[in-house]
Amino acid sequence: ARANEKLTDSFIYTPEVGANISKQLALMAEVSDAIENNQLLMYYQPKVDLKSQKVIGAEALIRWHHPERGWIRPDEFIPDAEHSTLILRISEFVLRAVIQQVQQWQQQGITIPISINVTGHDLLQPGFSQMMFGLLEEFQVDGSAIELEITEGTLIQDIDEVVSELLRLTRAKITVSIDDFGTGYSSLQYLYRLPISLLKIDQLFVKHLPEDQGASHICAAAVALAQKMGIKALAEGVETQQNLDYLVELGCDYGQGYFFSKPLSADAFAAWYHHRETQYEQPLG
Ligand code: C2E
Ligand code: MG
Ligand code: MG
Ligand code: MG
Repeated sequence: ARANEKLTDSFIYTPEVGANISKQLALMAEVSDAIENNQLLMYYQPKVDLKSQKVIGAEALIRWHHPERGWIRPDEFIPDAEHSTLILRISEFVLRAVIQQVQQWQQQGITIPISINVTGHDLLQPGFSQMMFGLLEEFQVDGSAIELEITEGTLIQDIDEVVSELLRLTRAKITVSIDDFGTGYSSLQYLYRLPISLLKIDQLFVKHLPEDQGASHICAAAVALAQKMGIKALAEGVETQQNLDYLVELGCDYGQGYFFSKPLSADAFAAWYHHRETQYEQPLG
């Protein structure tokens, strides 16, 4: 990604840029093979209501199990894939895998909504919502079981088109959240323009709570902004009891992070979920 930026920003070609680009191209060819060879799979990380401690959803996060290099994290291949149409093939894989998983979990009584990470590029792709509706139909899953998390590493030019595509999806009860709030490109514009129901505060700010004053002010403002807009706020990267206590004090609705659980394989998530349900079961009245 950095090499691409260098090229487009300054048009300076150096041997180093060339080497980076060929490395990226090789990696992208490998991702393409990874899709064919079933090396990609989804992990799931719970989202928790900070007041009731109930699990209110989970985020699907992609993992690549490379035959020689072992586990590769999405930050090592998603940003590059976003610069090419490869991201669309990845998203197609993710959508199918998650919707199929949702169907299975619903049969096991796990009925929380699951979120999927998408970029503006996905949404601008003709037929994205058609693909989504086709898969929901195929697996008999209701739109309300799916959330989309929008992140941006690049500025989206055709925001009007993104808005109309999202409206098509929200009409089918799919909900939309803004991811990495406070660090991406033009996140305030997105909050203003897109049909968003959840604001996810970037972990960059959350992990320094409450000692860091700047981070605390930003989190407080983000929670207040969400409240004013009538949407929910979720803190990403909650790692400690101190982080959690401060977020509760701020009135932040939800949290996600290692404090609750790391991302888990589908089976491990189901086990974690059932265990937690019995642990937190409250007697009525
Ligand atoms: P994200 O959507 O902001 O996801 C949150 C990231 O923070 C995940 O990293 C998660 O493992 C990590 N995380 C969660 N809790 C904690 C914590 O308490 N402390 C710390 N230090 N980290 C925590 P991951 O899985 O490596 O994903 C990185 C990014 O890659 C994601 O950021 C998302 O932007 C992207 N990504 C992941 N899966 C997909 C996918 O299926 N499609 C697309 N387009 N992007 C994806
Ligand atoms: Mg996300
Ligand atoms: Mg995030
Ligand atoms: Mg992120």
